Amino acid sequence: MPEMRIAIIGGGIAGLSAAYEVEKARAAGAQVEYTLFESRERLGGSLASEIVNGSVIERGPDSFLTEKPAAAELCRELGLGAELLPSNDAARKTYILVKNRLVALPDGLMFLVPTKLIPTALTRLFSFSTKIRMALELLHPPRPSGLPDEAVAALVERHFGAEAVDRLADPLLSGIYGGDAAELSARTVLPRLVEMETQYGSLTRGMLAAHRQMRARAKAAAKNNGHSIAGSGGPQAPRPIFTALRGGMQQLVDALARCLDPASVRLATPVSAIRKTASGWEVVFAGGSQSCDALIVASPAWAAGVLLSPVDPSLGEELSAIPYSSSITVNLVYDEKALGPLPEGFGFLVPASEGRAMLACTFVHRKFLGRTPPGTAVFRAFLGGIRNEALLTDSDEALVAIVRRELSEILGEKTIGLHVEPEYTQVSRWRRAMAQYAVGHQERAARIAARAAEFPGLHLAGNAYDGIGIPDCIRLGRRAAKELLSPGL
Ligand SMILES: Cc1cc2nc3c(=O)[nH]c(=O)nc-3n(C[C@H](O)[C@H](O)[C@H](O)COP(=O)(O)OP(=O)(O)OC[C@H]3O[C@@H](n4cnc5c(N)ncnc54)[C@H](O)[C@@H]3O)c2cc1C
Repeated sequence: MPEMRIAIIGGGIAGLSAAYEVEKARAAGAQVEYTLFESRERLGGSLASEIVNGSVIERGPDSFLTEKPAAAELCRELGLGAELLPSNDAARKTYILVKNRLVALPDGLMFLVPTKLIPTALTRLFSFSTKIRMALELLHPPRPSGLPDEAVAALVERHFGAEAVDRLADPLLSGIYGGDAAELSARTVLPRLVEMETQYGSLTRGMLAAHRQMRARAKAAAKNNGHSIAGSGGPQAPRPIFTALRGGMQQLVDALARCLDPASVRLATPVSAIRKTASGWEVVFAGGSQSCDALIVASPAWAAGVLLSPVDPSLGEELSAIPYSSSITVNLVYDEKALGPLPEGFGFLVPASEGRAMLACTFVHRKFLGRTPPGTAVFRAFLGGIRNEALLTDSDEALVAIVRRELSEILGEKTIGLHVEPEYTQVSRWRRAMAQYAVGHQERAARIAARAAEFPGLHLAGNAYDGIGIPDCIRLGRRAAKELLSPGL
């Protein structure tokens, strides 16, 4: 008899990471059994990719932030170390669409904060009055600590003006969260900027100070490790901003799935109810139920809210109150010879004020080298987001037509005219997939954690709580499993 039976609800990257950790413990001799319930017919949640004529086509995320180690660590553990692929940062350049013209983000922009005088003065991204405001920002007084949370838009507008919200904060954040800068929490989404404002007043001064400290630390470390660095072939190369997998994110899903015991994975099995019993929990699904000692709920918070409401109405209510946005990705594959010259760089972002359906477009063949055959160009457009959910009901043909028309209007008829047919198109809809960290999110997440802690054996994981990206979801999934297996860790 196992000492512990664990049910994991949701087979996205958070639930898969939790299951992997439990499986590892089981393989090492722990008396534990688990079942991973996934409502869809496949594992991976938002992570899904395929290879079409040699091109990696990502339906969901294409990479993760290198700065957060949990994803690359897991990939290495799974034997995917050689598959990790750095972003092609030498060619990194991102544009913002301003009055239907692509304007490159100025050099020296760090977390929305301009730190270099000349590129900021010369950019066509901002009007003269916004540039003056950016210069005067150096005199911004510190904000007292302990004030309530506020929207990202309020923080950015206070420092750099409304145009910086429209042309910078909003498009960058809608690219990440599919959200709205007027709704997203500054404290959760931009915690460093909130701290800098309290300490320095000016975000530019804060960012420059942080940069100086980072460089001093790197210099000191290089001095201390002089021998070992020299021994390893000279100074370390800078870390790439993004890391992908050569064969697509599906590689990570497949590698995790291979580690799991097939008998412990139940696909196409949505959990319809959770009950608290005298000795633990009961998980109910179509045609059956299962008793367990512990639960990791790794479904989106809206689904967790429905399941946990009967157990604890206030927990259910808090979970259900976390807003979500939906998005659509449209991949278009072209023969590069049929296209005209494309601007340098990774792609562009579209402010809401441009009135377009597209939120962003990545030039996939530029961002990661070696994932498309030579001579092939792949465009990956994002649509939808919190402001344009209605697009989800459009047909694939209509969505492809919108993206082709907008690309032609933005990049020019000569570059990607409507007469040039894509070789392959693919549309993916992600309904209510991205949690939105609205103003007050940290307090809500703390209340959720406190309520959940009232129920021994109940853990929550996923993108709704403490990080939207893949590394955070992996970290939370693995942590939930570790805490169950070794309480008090
Ligand atoms: C289009 C897109 C692009 C993105 N790009 C990036 C990127 O480039 N880099 C990055 O780091 N992040 C990116 N993200 C964010 C990141 O992919 C997600 O935040 C993360 O994958 C969420 O993982 P999760 O396990 O929390 O949730 P999900 O992937 O949503 O998984 C939850 C799972 O729970 C299942 N489920 C729901 N209800 C039940 C139930 N009752 N019973 C059983 N199962 C249930 C669902 O079917 C789903 O499979 C992107 C997301 C999207 C949608």
